[in-house]
Amino acid sequence: MVELVASALKNFDPAQVWTILEEIKDPEIPVLSIVDLGIAREVKYHGGEQLEIIISPTYSGCPAMYMLEEQIKEALNHRGFIDPIVTTRLSPAWTTDWMTETGRQKLEAYGIAPPEKTTTNKSVLFGGQKKISCPRCKSDNSEQISEFGSTACKALYRCLDCLEPFDYFKCI
Ligand SMILES: [Zn+2]
Repeated sequence: MVELVASALKNFDPAQVWTILEEIKDPEIPVLSIVDLGIAREVKYHGGEQLEIIISPTYSGCPAMYMLEEQIKEALNHRGFIDPIVTTRLSPAWTTDWMTETGRQKLEAYGIAPPEKTTTNKSVLFGGQKKISCPRCKSDNSEQISEFGSTACKALYRCLDCLEPFDYFKCI
């Protein structure tokens, strides 16, 4: 029999687990947690000591993603959740639509234009260039300077009103 006395799972509270996950930040955008980004998908308790966290990685090209699994395990271990299982789910694939509203606001406050909701982005269907709002002055009068910004996940734009360059978090 597994001794549960010292385990946080004795009084399992999913909200507590989500709070811990909220403390784990994206390796590339430190203002966003894995909850804000929609990387942390599900918290499952299977009974006994079996806590499972399901994550969907963002852009597979982001090199630091693989470290998240270890970070999650470590953070949970520290709070008494012993040996949680972290399962990576690749299908359905993560999309920028999974970013929470709070996450989008944090991103903009950080100076990065949040991804457009792909479902509402009709301009792409007609081949029109997307108008991305400047995170500083909110002007839609912007132009793409480069398809790649500070990382492959972002594109570099410039605002034609305040003339500031800014990163745009690309939709996928
Ligand atoms: Zn601007």
